[in-house]
Amino acid sequence: MTAEKILAHFRQTNALLEGHFILSSGLHSPNYLQCALALQYPFDAAKFGRAIAEHYKNELVETVASPAIGGLVIGYEVAKALNVRFIWTERENGAMTVRRGFSIKENEKILVVEDVITTGGSTRECIAALEKRGGKIVGAASIIDRSGGAADVGVPRIALVSLEVPSYEKKDCPLCERGDEAVKPGSRKI
Ligand SMILES: [Zn+2]
Repeated sequence: MTAEKILAHFRQTNALLEGHFILSSGLHSPNYLQCALALQYPFDAAKFGRAIAEHYKNELVETVASPAIGGLVIGYEVAKALNVRFIWTERENGAMTVRRGFSIKENEKILVVEDVITTGGSTRECIAALEKRGGKIVGAASIIDRSGGAADVGVPRIALVSLEVPSYEKKDCPLCERGDEAVKPGSRKI
């Protein structure tokens, strides 16, 4: 799957919007990304899963793990394509943790999968939780890298698409300066 094809799918499903948006951080941006919309149909999610799995077919991955909730659908599809087990980490009192009775054996080779990497924060927390339980992280992967390659998660990392999404403080926003009205994504029908 080429990056162009993936981005076309994201636009078709409104997972990638172009306009003038107020992000949940309060920053303004000409783009809005909502990966869940691109993964609504299992047929599509499976294609992305196979594309990520392709990079790891010679890596002897034993387990795929994802930070909940964003990573669950794509992580499951990658695990399915690699024919390995799938587990996840989730927050408990704010801290990323391995719950639900998932066990990890010493030095188990784990691939961490996310839908989108922005700063790499949740991936790093997921990795730390898995390492604490004895896991050996062989890599980290996402469909989209919003950091333009900058996010460092401490292990080798790949993304199917690298995307630089600019964001601005309201006072510095060139779209506001042009007089365009900023909207919260989802606040109107598209
Ligand atoms: Zn603006």
